[in-house]
Amino acid sequence: MLTDPRGKRRRLIFSGIRKAGPLARVDLADMTGISQPTVTTLTAELLRAGLIEEVTPEIPPSSAPRGRPRIALQVRGTAHRVVGLKLAERTISAVLTDFRNQVLAEYSIETGGTAMSLEEAGAAVERVVTELAARAGRRKPRLSAVGIGLPGAVDGERGIVHWSPVLSDRAVALADSLGARLGLPVFVENDANLVAVAEQFYGAGRQVGTFLVVTIEEGVGLGVVLDNAVYRGARGFASEFGHMKVQPGGALCRCGQRGCLEAYVSDYALLREAGDLPGIASAGSPAERLAALLDASRSGNAEARAIVDRAERYFALGLANLITLFDPPLIVLSGERTLHDYLVAEDVLASIRGLQHPAGAAPPEIVVHRWGNKMWARGAAAHAIDGVAERIMAGLDTGA
Ligand SMILES: [Zn+2]
Repeated sequence: MLTDPRGKRRRLIFSGIRKAGPLARVDLADMTGISQPTVTTLTAELLRAGLIEEVTPEIPPSSAPRGRPRIALQVRGTAHRVVGLKLAERTISAVLTDFRNQVLAEYSIETGGTAMSLEEAGAAVERVVTELAARAGRRKPRLSAVGIGLPGAVDGERGIVHWSPVLSDRAVALADSLGARLGLPVFVENDANLVAVAEQFYGAGRQVGTFLVVTIEEGVGLGVVLDNAVYRGARGFASEFGHMKVQPGGALCRCGQRGCLEAYVSDYALLREAGDLPGIASAGSPAERLAALLDASRSGNAEARAIVDRAERYFALGLANLITLFDPPLIVLSGERTLHDYLVAEDVLASIRGLQHPAGAAPPEIVVHRWGNKMWARGAAAHAIDGVAERIMAGLDTGA
């Protein structure tokens, strides 16, 4: 826990510049509540450390104030290059970005759809990072860090993955293992938390300090941002929304427990229920079978409709419970595939409003963002930027 007030203010300033830059010092002082002389001192340290740079914002001549143009501060894009990867069940998607999270190169591979051992994951990640570096015209050693997002119970601080549907090994020191393999600092995090980080700095979360991100993919994830910080829990296990129990002794989840939300709304749960329905088991790939199930439901097949209805009911129940717990002003529902549109349909949102407590209270704003894999990978790169900046600022703390 950081107790040095100077270090804390420095981080506040860096994060303010990152979120709202380019920003003049006077606006930074207003935004953070830190006095202008302190802002001047601390931004001078960040400038010397190469984390930020001064720019003169382009102002149209008609609205330009008289006198000297105001100098603004922004994160120094060329300071570092990082890679962000999203490890999913069938793909690894990756981007190489500058220090302002601008994408310089992207690359993705198919992984075959089965959980990988630590060794297999390491080899695949190394292949992707090397290819990306080549595409960006850089050698791997010129990179500053790699950020990795994956679903499951991830202790980001210690870099340990306790459980993930992507890995067959349990309780693995993924960050250390990949770091040794790549010769680079590696930062790992739950993938939904990374979407929350990216929304916080570059998306809908720029406007509010507290919000929730619910991710809908093969599983269901949650990122919680409370008062401008991602909430991870004491051991990094917090906000495993998909494994919140919604039915005592209910359906078996792939995490090994029973009655989890995911065991009712994830793709595999729907396909398990639909297994015997005619025309669905024979439809081909999991995505094709899911599409066939949803088609059957829409065209009035009662059994298909019952399966989809149940998923909707459980999803609405889970979201209403989140609203009751956190009272967020904003919820971002994030899923790439239109296959999951039924979960964000108007009747589902209406039943959420009917279930939240207190009854009749105004519902939070709920927005739907279609994040492709590339955006998740950008979130992982943003996490790597965090990690690099944090290490540099820790050096300033001891020097201060
Ligand atoms: Zn579970």
